[in-house]
Amino acid sequence: PVRTRFAPSPTGELHIGGARTALFSYAYARHHQGVFILRVEDTDVERSTPESVKAIFDGMHWLDLEYDEGPFYQMQRMDRYKEVVAEMLKAGTAYYCYCSKEELDALRAEQEARGEKPRYDRRWRPEAGKTLPEPPAGVQPVVRFRNPLDGVVAWEDEVKGRIEISNTELDDLIIARPDGTPTYNFCVVVDDWDMAITHVIRGDDHVNNTPRQINILQALGAPLPKYGHVPMILDEDGKKLSKRTGAASVMQYYEMGILPEALLNYLARLGWGHGDDELFSRAQLVEWFDTRQISGSPSRLDRKKLMWVNAHYLKQADAGRIAALVRPFLEKIGVTVDEAIDLPALVGLYKERVENLCQLAEALAFCFRTPEADPALRAQHLTDAVLPHLPTLVSRLQALVDWSKDSIAAELKAVVAEAGLKFPQLAMPVRVLLCGTTQTPSLDAVLAALPRELVLSRLAAG
Ligand code: GLU
Repeated sequence: PVRTRFAPSPTGELHIGGARTALFSYAYARHHQGVFILRVEDTDVERSTPESVKAIFDGMHWLDLEYDEGPFYQMQRMDRYKEVVAEMLKAGTAYYCYCSKEELDALRAEQEARGEKPRYDRRWRPEAGKTLPEPPAGVQPVVRFRNPLDGVVAWEDEVKGRIEISNTELDDLIIARPDGTPTYNFCVVVDDWDMAITHVIRGDDHVNNTPRQINILQALGAPLPKYGHVPMILDEDGKKLSKRTGAASVMQYYEMGILPEALLNYLARLGWGHGDDELFSRAQLVEWFDTRQISGSPSRLDRKKLMWVNAHYLKQADAGRIAALVRPFLEKIGVTVDEAIDLPALVGLYKERVENLCQLAEALAFCFRTPEADPALRAQHLTDAVLPHLPTLVSRLQALVDWSKDSIAAELKAVVAEAGLKFPQLAMPVRVLLCGTTQTPSLDAVLAALPRELVLSRLAAG
């Protein structure tokens, strides 16, 4: 069976590029009825934080990227890595190296002076007929992998095609530090092996690690997974995404008022495609997904398109669900949500007119606090022609038996007819007084969705 994994390092927010590789790994596993695994690569103890582990879970939960196995934590697997190091030492596929930092520095300086690429000269690598130096007293050795000296490491990358690296390019990698702790690439190898990963889909910043990992897997006699290296997501200007521009982490998209299903659709489409389809559901993505259609070149973020996708999902979404989602956005702009107000009804009227939850909160704020209408708007619409008729409207609305869209519409029409006004001459000032703007959905519907007392008091105050 197909087994994929998402293996984030918890050293910051859940990055949007990471979320996309997680999505691809997830979709690939689901497409093949396989298994999707979460593995937290937390061995960098200086930079790993519990907040960041939480950010990963929060992000995955928000995007509903459900994993089947895990979370595994590398820090909890130390004994296993040490066991494999010991096995490799025994098998002769790894060896102790007692070089001190000073020796390595001196070696590097010599090599650089000769114009050579600095690299370890394998002085502690056992070879037939070679006499190794005496291990110096009191030095804790590192363990190095015995990398093949010649030949090439090659793989058919699922995204980038064939990649080939000559073994002469590769050092004897340190797999365990003097204190015995395993190094990054080694942990990844042991995990991918133990977790029987069949497809490694990850960012192409790891492409240089792959030949080293393949060599170690081969030395272990482990089966090789297939690799697919996904290019980066760049910002609109072609630069690396940064926190500053507000689009690097998944939670920044949450804060932008993006819906998770919209972000997933957008991310999937960014760097992957199924013909010309722009909008597709998670089920369709799973049905269509194949690593072969992942683009080999970096993708650029397109905020306008993301908002377009988001607007589509807002339109489709259930108003009750969006009402619940918009509450924190209302609170963020200082609005106290009044429970007497039928938020789902208002959301239903407004969600088609906005692109994100921030805009929706702005559009709905008037329901909870009296808007300050722009004096120019007031002057334009609260004319002498209409002002005398507002009290009539107020008393008619007050007398209404049934506070519904249709009966409100009938009262509006009646006032317009009696006063000899055109409909907008009445509707516009009502909008300005009630909503602080002339841009509203159908006025009768807005009125009906608001409590009658609120409508009457704002109109009376005008
Ligand atoms: N922990 C690595 C990262 O967060 C991913 C390693 C991998 O997928 O092999 O970049």
